[in-house]
Amino acid sequence: MSFLKQINPFESALIQFDKAASVLKLSESQIAMVKEPRRITEVNLPVRMDNGSIQIFKGFRVQHSVVRGPAKGGIRFHPNVTVDEVKALAFWMTYKCAVVGVPFGGGKGGVVVDPTLLSRNELESLSRRYFAEMSDLFGPDSDVPAPDVNTNPQIMCWMFDTYSMHKKQYLPAVITGKPLELGGSEGRSEATAQGMVFTVRDACEHLNINLKKATVAIQGFGNAGSFAAKLLHDDGAKIVAISDVTGAYYNPAGIDVNAALNTCKNNKTWLLKGLEKNTKCEKLNDPMKLLELEVDILIPAALENQITEENAPNIKAKIIAECANGPVTPDADDILEKKKIFIIPDVLCNAGGVTVSYLEWVQNRMGYYWSKDRVNEDLEKIMTKAFDQVYDLAQKNKVNMRIAAFMLAIDRVTKAAELRGLYA
Ligand code: NAD
Repeated sequence: MSFLKQINPFESALIQFDKAASVLKLSESQIAMVKEPRRITEVNLPVRMDNGSIQIFKGFRVQHSVVRGPAKGGIRFHPNVTVDEVKALAFWMTYKCAVVGVPFGGGKGGVVVDPTLLSRNELESLSRRYFAEMSDLFGPDSDVPAPDVNTNPQIMCWMFDTYSMHKKQYLPAVITGKPLELGGSEGRSEATAQGMVFTVRDACEHLNINLKKATVAIQGFGNAGSFAAKLLHDDGAKIVAISDVTGAYYNPAGIDVNAALNTCKNNKTWLLKGLEKNTKCEKLNDPMKLLELEVDILIPAALENQITEENAPNIKAKIIAECANGPVTPDADDILEKKKIFIIPDVLCNAGGVTVSYLEWVQNRMGYYWSKDRVNEDLEKIMTKAFDQVYDLAQKNKVNMRIAAFMLAIDRVTKAAELRGLYA
């Protein structure tokens, strides 16, 4: 694990950028316009704890790009958050929005905190203080956050309320991933996983894999991972392994996904703890071995740097669908490419989340709300089009899907930057 932490995700992101920029033959000036983040904000957030003491939490917001639209990207609460992680996540948001063609730039936020150690009251105070400190940055036309690891619709409500109280207006479009009762969109909770399923379906067609008979392993069982398991299970695929912070659970005959969802519901927090007692499966001694199982589809849906040069040689999946951001390091990428493993890169694979966030933002601005069918129809169209464009570019230039996705996206951002020109 100590080895994993040493890999700087922002350096990984820049390596990905450089590979695509060199195929595109971008000039130094073009690179300078779109590579580094535009603005980095760091704050120390004082929060009054339940025992009366004041504790300081470090928070970040990075706006990587506002060239194609307002900055857009989630807020992560995690003890290992660093400014470089937030920079990487903001960078990936810029290019993710460009891959699927939604009119946003890229941003990301993070707070260094283990939210499981906070009471509900302390969590609310921290969420509101973070948003209040950053309220000059945020706005429906400037920077629109969303949930990420360890943040959820309730936290989005507290943040929306804080902003609306400051502005003395009802402004739901300042943040997405809200619940339906407060301007959320139908289909947003499952959007990241649903978008991934559309890309996996397309990849399976190209690789002649029958998705209905495919075996799947999923790392992470939160918003992205649990919906991924449910949707693929409903489509007929066999989910043989799932995991979260409590461990990895394996059954080669298929895990009962409904039992897993019920276990999470019945545990106080959304965790798989005790699953091996509730349904037929074994708990793996080393949870990282989930990644090395012989499956058709491997879905990392937890954190960055999970597949590295150390374990990449042992990966046996035919498809890696990156629901998480940055789960594969650049060194591992090279190894997996030689092994002819088909990677659906994060900036394409998990773009369903930001796509339905975009639809939520549009609905908030209209004050008119769509049915789930309407939202999913648009999501499918957008994801399928993006997959086809990336796949065609990869074939044409004889590059892998990650380089092709970045080529498509960097080209779009660069062209927009050139059209805008320089103000002063
Ligand atoms: P979440 O907090 O809902 O879930 C995270 C899950 O990962 C939890 O089940 C947690 O227990 C598990 N986890 C953490 N560390 C782990 C480890 N070392 N091994 C195994 N499991 C571990 O977060 P989420 O929103 O589902 O996000 C997961 C990933 O998907 C992140 O990389 C995030 O950036 C990405 N993503 C999320 C969205 C979204 O809409 N939520 C959109 C795009 C990308």
